[in-house]
Amino acid sequence: MTSAPSTDCLFCKIVAGDVPADVVASTDRVIAFRDIDPKAPVHVLVAPREHHGDVATLAAADPALLAEVVQLADRVAGDLADGQFRFVFNSGPRAGQSVFHVHGHVLAGAQLGWTPA
Ligand code: IMP
Repeated sequence: MTSAPSTDCLFCKIVAGDVPADVVASTDRVIAFRDIDPKAPVHVLVAPREHHGDVATLAAADPALLAEVVQLADRVAGDLADGQFRFVFNSGPRAGQSVFHVHGHVLAGAQLGWTPA
């Protein structure tokens, strides 16, 4: 999938500031904002500013950028919770992906269950 900004991509619009978001942390290349429909006391989405469709595509195109995404997730979990967190990438519609701009879900702030299916 392309790394060009997509005009019909919701998260490209958040990166551009065209759609409001509750941004909790950011770097030159990565942004972290609260999920609009939280599934845990801390539920933050961490995404590269560049458009890549899913995590495997990002890993192939720019592994250093994927590492930056993980590093910002760790920082968010330390800043907003106790540093312990689950980091989930849904990849494909059957796995639950609904926004096709790669993002990891930081879930933290509680004892988490394990019932994905
Ligand atoms: P996915 O289903 O893994 O692709 O995750 C997409 C996430 O984006 C879902 O958890 C949604 O709740 C979240 N979401 C959708 N629209 C917005 C928004 O405008 N701001 C923040 N989060 C959003």
